[in-house]
Amino acid sequence: MTAPARTDRGSEELIRAEEPVLAHNYHPLPVVVARAGGAWVEDVEGRRYLDMLAGYSALNFGHRHPALIEAAHRQLDRLTLTSRAFHNDRLAGFAERLAALTGTDMVLPMNTGAEAVESGIKVARKWAYDVKGVPADRATIVVAADNFHGRTTTIVSFSTDETARSGFGPFTPGFRIVPYNDLAAMEAAVDETTAAVLIEPIQGEAGVLIPDDGYLAGVRELTRRKGCLFVADEIQSGLGRTGHTLAVQHESVVPDVVLLGKALGGGIVPVSAVVGSREVLGVLRPGEHGSTFGGNPLAAAVGTAVVELLETGAFQRRAAELGAVLREGLAALVGKGVVGFRARGLWAGVDVDPALGSGREISERLMREGVLVKDTHGSTIRLAPPLTVTAEELTGALGTLEKVLTS
Ligand SMILES: *Cc1c(COP(=O)(O)O)cnc(C)c1O
Repeated sequence: MTAPARTDRGSEELIRAEEPVLAHNYHPLPVVVARAGGAWVEDVEGRRYLDMLAGYSALNFGHRHPALIEAAHRQLDRLTLTSRAFHNDRLAGFAERLAALTGTDMVLPMNTGAEAVESGIKVARKWAYDVKGVPADRATIVVAADNFHGRTTTIVSFSTDETARSGFGPFTPGFRIVPYNDLAAMEAAVDETTAAVLIEPIQGEAGVLIPDDGYLAGVRELTRRKGCLFVADEIQSGLGRTGHTLAVQHESVVPDVVLLGKALGGGIVPVSAVVGSREVLGVLRPGEHGSTFGGNPLAAAVGTAVVELLETGAFQRRAAELGAVLREGLAALVGKGVVGFRARGLWAGVDVDPALGSGREISERLMREGVLVKDTHGSTIRLAPPLTVTAEELTGALGTLEKVLTS
């Protein structure tokens, strides 16, 4: 017999209830969120927390942004799914506007970030065989160490994180791993078999690692000169987070292919996309790639509303302006428990003095003080609040961090 769904359980009971029935592939902070709005979430007992993680940038516009919720509601009342066996009346507009926003020609709609990465890999390989003339099954893709591109078997094949890889082989061949932020190593790895270089413009999971000025422009120059594609994974760095629509715009770089996800779904539905030039995305023919849910009308309606928010430039400006507040606040904490940090826009990796606790312990202490963050590796915590956060909320969170580190 199935147990009746219960909504009257407290946080502790709900956390205990997960243990026997939910696969243990995550270790969440002990907070059970029941409702949210803007930059704030509320747990089952009604305690409020400032969300300084924003779903790893899936919630760039905050929780339940009114324009996005309205777009979703309107679409729910009309049409939700057709499959790509038929056209739907929302997809053309979504693709046109997303291509225009990102300065590209074509859009391949998918659902999750990992699917966008997989699709980008397939498109790059197809381009290598059809356009570049690489011999069959010989294409290589150059990637960076300490990358994070998702969790599929092919993607973990070129991860350097043993926890993500170990026990999941055999792995997909055809990838060459070079150190991040090292153009000479990349140059040495690229040869006539190389379909693409695939990198994150800022490595998020690695601790918000920002490459040296000139690296992204260097990757652009190198890939153009060597005749391979530049594929930028902007799934976490893109859509306003760093103060630009795309993080590559800090160096005025236009990659051949950009991978988008996370915030593209407005925190409502999974929406991802591969966007790029017609020369590259045009290699796909009917039947060669697809997705039952990719480009569904609900996703397209929400995605269009997300693009509309970004077209104003207001969120990018906010991220840049508040980014200055964030950097200033973090600089003031250096020596007060913070040993270093990296920040661009409303995105920071903060290295805490390991003597004060692991990133996990600091995150738990912040949670008890009403601020939600996530640790990455060791004693690094990541800050990525919704772009709708106010300066007061931001300085409040930094004050809480100071309190947690100095008390
Ligand atoms: C989150 C993320 C992915 C994977 O996205 P999912 O939606 O979790 O599959 C890929 N690349 C980067 C840079 C990411 O941050």
